[in-house]
Amino acid sequence: MAFETGVLATLRANIEYRSRRNSVKHEDGPVWHTGKMSYHCPRCNAGYTYKKTLKTHMKYDCGKEPRFKCPYCNKRDKCSSNIYKHVRMRHDGMPVMVHRN
Ligand SMILES: [Zn+2]
Ligand SMILES: [Zn+2]
Repeated sequence: MAFETGVLATLRANIEYRSRRNSVKHEDGPVWHTGKMSYHCPRCNAGYTYKKTLKTHMKYDCGKEPRFKCPYCNKRDKCSSNIYKHVRMRHDGMPVMVHRN
């Protein structure tokens, strides 16, 4: 019993070590919760897995006007692919395009 637990613990430690090593490249510190939203924006509470992504969000995204707009209605988004998706769903049969600010 004790032996099995020991082996399992070692295996798990190895897996954690490997996944941490893969993601640590872009990080300032160790990542203990890989794959989880570990960092939250203090302004809008958006969750991010990496500190770097959160920093990018705070610098370029947070509080900024959405840059892309649907040409057929007032829908705006920060991500052009969301507008493409929106046009396909909401404006069926219309040419799929995006207006940029
Ligand atoms: Zn934010
Ligand atoms: Zn629209």
